[in-house]
Formats: sequence, C-alpha cells, structure tokens
Amino acid sequence: MYILVINAGSSSLKYQLLDMSSESVLAKGLCERIGIDGRLIHETDKGKHVADLPMPDHGATMAIVLDSLLDAEHGVIASKDEIKAVGHRVVHGGETFTASVLITDEVEAAIEAVSDLAPLHNPPNLTGIRACKQHMPSVPQVAVFDTAFHQTMPAKAYLYAIDYVLYQKHKIRKYGFHGTSHKYVSECAAEILKRPAADLKLVTCHLGNGVSLCAVDGGISVDTSMGMTPLEGLAMGTRCGDIDPAVVQFIMEKEGISAQEAGSLLNKNSGVLGISGVSSDFRDLAAAADKGNERAVAALEVFAYRVAGYIGRYAACMNGLDAIIFTAGIGENDTMIREKICSYLTWFGVDVDPELNGKRGQALDVSKPNAKVRVLVIPTNEELVIARDTKTILGK
Ligand code: AMP
Repeated sequence: MYILVINAGSSSLKYQLLDMSSESVLAKGLCERIGIDGRLIHETDKGKHVADLPMPDHGATMAIVLDSLLDAEHGVIASKDEIKAVGHRVVHGGETFTASVLITDEVEAAIEAVSDLAPLHNPPNLTGIRACKQHMPSVPQVAVFDTAFHQTMPAKAYLYAIDYVLYQKHKIRKYGFHGTSHKYVSECAAEILKRPAADLKLVTCHLGNGVSLCAVDGGISVDTSMGMTPLEGLAMGTRCGDIDPAVVQFIMEKEGISAQEAGSLLNKNSGVLGISGVSSDFRDLAAAADKGNERAVAALEVFAYRVAGYIGRYAACMNGLDAIIFTAGIGENDTMIREKICSYLTWFGVDVDPELNGKRGQALDVSKPNAKVRVLVIPTNEELVIARDTKTILGK
C-alpha cells in the first residue's frame, strides 16, 4: 500500500511517498517559495531532481508533486490510483483531537475552529488538505496532529496558573508539540531496551531547530516543555523558551514596540541566535565557540543547562527515570551537546561511553554497561508515524 505524507507550510510543502509493505520511502521532496516563484527538489533512488516551476498556490504545487511522482524519468508510480491514502501533518488539534482522524467536512471545520491557537500553522495545513482533495477527491485523507500525543497530560501539567476563566473561555493551557516524534522515539526506546513501554519512565529530547522535551511514563505523555504555542520551554534556535512573562511588557515599553513586534522578537530573534548574535545553527555556534566567541559559548551553555534542568524536573515529576532519548538534528548529531547535557546528570546514574557517543546515524544505547539511567540516540521519523497512523485509520 502506498501512502503519501504531506507537511504543508505557508510557503513550502514537504512530501514523502511510502510503500507501507516495507515502510520504505519511494520518493520525497520539498516545494519551496510557494506564492513567490517556486522551486521543486524531488528525490528518489534514481537521484535528485531540482526544477524552478511556478507555484502560485498550494493547488498548483500539489499538481507539480503528483506530476513528479508520475514522471517518466523521475517518477515512481504509473497512476495516481496507486496512492491509497494521504496523511497530513496538522500542527494544532487543540483539545478536540486526541488522536489521528479520517478527514471529513466536520473534521476540517474543527481544525479551522482551533486555528486561532496556531495561526501560522493550521491555515497552511488546511490549505494542503484542500489541495489534495482537489487533485485526489476519492482518496482518503487523514490528519495527524503534533499535539495529540500530549492530550494524555494531567491537568496539573497542562494548566497555567492564571485565571481559570481564561482557560474556560479561550482554552489557554499547555498543549505541547512534536508529538509524532516523541511517540516514535519512545516506542523505539522500548524496543531497544527490550522492555514493555508500560514499565518505562522516559524523557525524550527532540533537539532540532525547535526544541521540546517530553516525560513519557508508561508509554504516554505526562508532561512536555512546549506550551500553548511552541515558544515555551527550552532555549531554541531562534525562540526564547521560558522567560519571566513580565519581560514582555518591559521590552515593549523600553523598546517602544508593539505586541506583534515583541512576539516576533521572541520567536525569531531570540534563543541561541539571540544570545550568540552568531547563528541559530549549532555547527556555526560550535565553530564560533572554538574560536573563543564568548557569546557563542554562553549560548551553548544556556542550552545544555536548560535541557539538563528539564530532564531533572521530569525525573522528579515521574518519580523515576529509566532512559533519556536524544533525537532530531542536534540530538542525533551533536555529540558535544549530548555530552554537556549528560555531564549534569551523573548523580541520577547517567554514564555515557564517549566512544559510543561519537557514533552517528543509527539508533544506539550510548551508555556504559552499568549505567543506571540509559542514554539512547534515536533518529526520529515523523513521516513514518504519519504514514503508520494513516494506514491504521484506513484499516478501521
Ligand atoms: P532539525 O530541526 O531537526 O532539522 O535540526 C536542525 C538543527 O540541527 C540545526 O540547528 C543544526 O544546528 C543541527 N545540526 C544538524 N546537523 C548537525 C551536526 N552534524 N552537528 C551539530 N548540529 C547539527
């Protein structure tokens, strides 16, 4: 069974076509600069195909994706009918969606209804859904939500200590994101540790451009670091993470900027970029730190200190910790950051083997044999989770 996975952003659309009999990727690609001009990067076993093509909107972009999949030279299928379902990444499901769902008109309306919680993400996700419906009207479409995995959090973890009326009126609470990634790596961890997920207390660390940690107790999310929006929690590439909320008003008054400008400052010009003034990319930061750039050193220190602190917090909240899992661009590749974070956690029983920690590209337990708390590095695969959920829903 072939399943197409779509991740539609405002000016980009990522896709993967998976053969679910082997869970292998037949083709993947990225359409960027939608609404500006348009560029396609399409990859298969046969190689990479890059083309500048007009992409005035998501409908035209989907036509280009399908043409690429069907193309005599770069294609991998002979007919659109070979695509049995489409799985869509949808960022925010609010409190409405606790699991992936088959998309109906009612579901579409419900996704639209929670869009004010993710105004930058849900509208383009919906545009992607509508573009697929336009080109494949009889193919089932499934929505897989970044927030759904975290809907098991108890109220003590998701309530903000603000007037309860605001929660009732506007649904202001912690939702969490990267749910498909946290779910995937926590399931892989149970396999690697050869223990049932129900018996495990894990902290999964998704360290990419966006950063979130999740406390996974007995296979379910019991707490996570991102909040109502992806701005809360750890210091990220360009997002500030946790700060004193009073700082926002203070900056607005001192700098004479609007609420929108303050939001943009905290989302796009903060985090490790803000501290270092160098870059949001950890490779650039490491290079600058090596040359003695003190702000780059500080950015890396703040990042690692906060991740370690959150791991400790979640160990306390779960009253135990069996393993820490590192994933995503930084978590999978940056051995120095992993080492720095783990150096705070030896008291818990973390003991990383430097040689194993230096390996890359495979799921691995990088702990020394007697370490009480295991440290695993697991490459994430959000597209596969979306495809698996889509297949499961189709089978129902
Ligand atoms: P992601 O959002 O998962 O694609 O992760 C992006 C982040 O991963 C970027 O900020 C990079 O700094 C980081 N990254 C990717 N490759 C490496 C690497 N080899 N070493 C250190 N950081 C890396």
